Amino acid sequence: MIGRRFLAAARAALSRSPVDRKGRLARAASLVLIVATVFAAEGSGLLRPLDNALGALRFDLLRRDASQTLTVVEIDPASIRAAGRWPWDRERFAQAIRNLQAAGADTVAFDVDFSARADSAADQALLAAIARQPGSVVLPTFVQALDRRAPARLVENTPLANLSNDALLASVNVLIDPDGLVRRYRYGFDSESGGRASMASLLANRSPGQTADFLIDYGIREKSLDHLSFEDVYRGRFDASQVRGRSILIGSTAQELGDDFATPRHGALPGVYVHALAYESLVAGRDLKALNPLLLGALAVWSAYLLRPRSALRLRRMLLRHLVIAATAIGGPLALQAAAPVSAATGSILFAQLLCLIWLVRHELARRARAVVEAREAHLLELAEHMRASRDEILAAHDELKAVNVALDRALAARTDFLAMTSHEIRTPLNGIMGMTQVILSDRNLPAGLRDKVDLVHASGETMLALVDDILDVAKMESGNLTVTPAKMDLHRLLDETTRLWTDKAQSKGLGLRCDRGDTPTWIIEDGGRLRQILFNLTSNAIKFTERGEVSLEARTELGEDGEMLVLEVSDNGIGIPADKVEQIFEAFSQVDAGITRKYGGTGLGLAISRRLARAMGGDLTVESELDVGSRFAVRLPLRRAAADRGAAGAGAADGVALAAASVLLIEANPLAQGVMKAALASHVSDLEVARSTVEARAALGSRRFDLLLVEGRCLSLGDADAFEEVGRLARESAGAAVVVLWAGPAEETAGLRRAGARLVIPKPIATADLVQELRAFRAACEDPAALGRAFAAAGSP
Ligand code: ADP
Repeated sequence: MIGRRFLAAARAALSRSPVDRKGRLARAASLVLIVATVFAAEGSGLLRPLDNALGALRFDLLRRDASQTLTVVEIDPASIRAAGRWPWDRERFAQAIRNLQAAGADTVAFDVDFSARADSAADQALLAAIARQPGSVVLPTFVQALDRRAPARLVENTPLANLSNDALLASVNVLIDPDGLVRRYRYGFDSESGGRASMASLLANRSPGQTADFLIDYGIREKSLDHLSFEDVYRGRFDASQVRGRSILIGSTAQELGDDFATPRHGALPGVYVHALAYESLVAGRDLKALNPLLLGALAVWSAYLLRPRSALRLRRMLLRHLVIAATAIGGPLALQAAAPVSAATGSILFAQLLCLIWLVRHELARRARAVVEAREAHLLELAEHMRASRDEILAAHDELKAVNVALDRALAARTDFLAMTSHEIRTPLNGIMGMTQVILSDRNLPAGLRDKVDLVHASGETMLALVDDILDVAKMESGNLTVTPAKMDLHRLLDETTRLWTDKAQSKGLGLRCDRGDTPTWIIEDGGRLRQILFNLTSNAIKFTERGEVSLEARTELGEDGEMLVLEVSDNGIGIPADKVEQIFEAFSQVDAGITRKYGGTGLGLAISRRLARAMGGDLTVESELDVGSRFAVRLPLRRAAADRGAAGAGAADGVALAAASVLLIEANPLAQGVMKAALASHVSDLEVARSTVEARAALGSRRFDLLLVEGRCLSLGDADAFEEVGRLARESAGAAVVVLWAGPAEETAGLRRAGARLVIPKPIATADLVQELRAFRAACEDPAALGRAFAAAGSP
């Protein structure tokens, strides 16, 4: 059975992992170390204070009274003072013996040295007193070392030989522990004359010849020992009941006689009391035996084994075990000592337990720290896992977002394309309507009623065209294609034109419209069409949102940090803009509130486009406004001056002559646009021919010469490179005619066209009236090549 169990345990041990085995080995080593420490401590006496303290505690708890079979007669200070000297005349002791025996004392024992001869008469008197009742007086002997340096050579110090004849002899040797305390007492001593019973053994009638030690029971109350003063005994002043039938122990308690011993419970105790307590221990059967230290050692080992380090250790269970063992180690000896004269020194058990407890605490703290670290680790891992999952989610979301963005970009591009295309498609017929209404209106013979109606159609067309243009611009803005093409332009003419065009509208509302050109130059390099768009929009808004007062258009130059600036300000004293909306109005489709749309109309696009244009020109559009006071919109652009035209004042008239005299070949494929252009140019150009394609144009060029080729950009091939090539071919075959291209595209394309041979690129869209104006100015310049050269040089053209 045991063999099978052992085999199973061995197999289990072998199958354990190396980490397990290492742990077991470490724990076994700890146990061995604890046991070794306990034995070392016990062997070196380190645990004695603990045992002594526990022993003292037991005495405290197991108190008992003396047997009242012994009375101590104290040679106290009062007795010495009464006698007037020391040592005494032995007659005093003889008298005391007589008095005590007369009162019925059983035995009279002395813890007084009678080894030296004194006054012989007195010695005789003592001898006589002893001889009265032979064998009832006990005299002391001392066993002591003959020489302090040779403690093994013992001699016995006995009373005077004749005194000893009728007396009993007993040893009054007291055993002193290494710490100076008297704990133990001996039954008897070996002496030269054979075995000598100790004083307590003799009085307690213990069989002589025993030489073992026992522990004095200090639980016996010293105060409960009956005692008399020697002086009273000597004088016969005592109660006979205190001595009758009892043993009497006479000894010194006066400190001056120096017979005190240190004891564990009673402090310094006179020797006579040490003997008395040893006597009481024997009489009460309380002569305590120390429990076998080997047995206690074994118990300590067993305790250490029970409390040994464990891997699967449950703290509560272990603490309970500690509690039980501690209670047993303290309570066990107490119960044992209460029941039997046995004293168990369980210090080693408690010490072993203390070491195990330290180990337990250490192990528990380490375990908890490990648990905390493991928990933290787990938490971190969880966190990392969580982060990984989040990262994956984010990556997935990012991918999704990317896909959505791509789709969105595609949708936006499609929308922009659609807007651009639709706007363009609307623009073409609208231009037809506009051109035709303009042609009709230019007929002086038109009846007044019809003129009003055609006027209305024209005005509506203009509004629609503006709206379409705005939408087209927004589409360009969104696709990043809203660009500006700077060229030499007449700023003053633009200001005048704006004022002229909007005066009627302002007057119809009872408003004044004032224009101040300030210190601005006439000729500047800027995108004239776009600048006009901005000014028109601002002026239109100013008139629209003002009910009373004046709208003013002021131009001036300013020297800013980045150089000279052109400032164009449009101010009104209209409804103003709330402070919190001042930035919002520059967003596309944004108005101060919905009521505005209802009352004033509009789309909320104008300012957004204007600001974007101003920024594309390298400047900005800003506003200062106060509700119900008015607004001031300011366009700030870098000022690029252009060289002044010679005879600019009379330019208008001279230009017109130059254009009228020119022969023009218009290349336009769209029949509707062709009609509009022809109608627009008819009254300004006397010699106008039309070709529907560049092929047709080149054929026409082969048959005759023209001054000017006006090419609608869409008639050039679709790809830009081809367009450039085509322009180049036209220029080469034009026999000196100036090639003018109507083009809607970014600045690089305009430059490309110029390099290819176009003398002038007019950006689209452009109203027919403006186109005529541009052509007149160009022709005039052509007539004066120097002025043209100057103008192009300032515009940065070749
Ligand atoms: P629209 O005039 O077509 O609504 P805009 O972009 O030109 O679009 O203007 C946006 C909004 O800014 C207007 O609807 C109006 O609320 C406000 N606004 C513009 N100019 C003025 C002005 N001069 N005075 C007061 N409010 C203005």
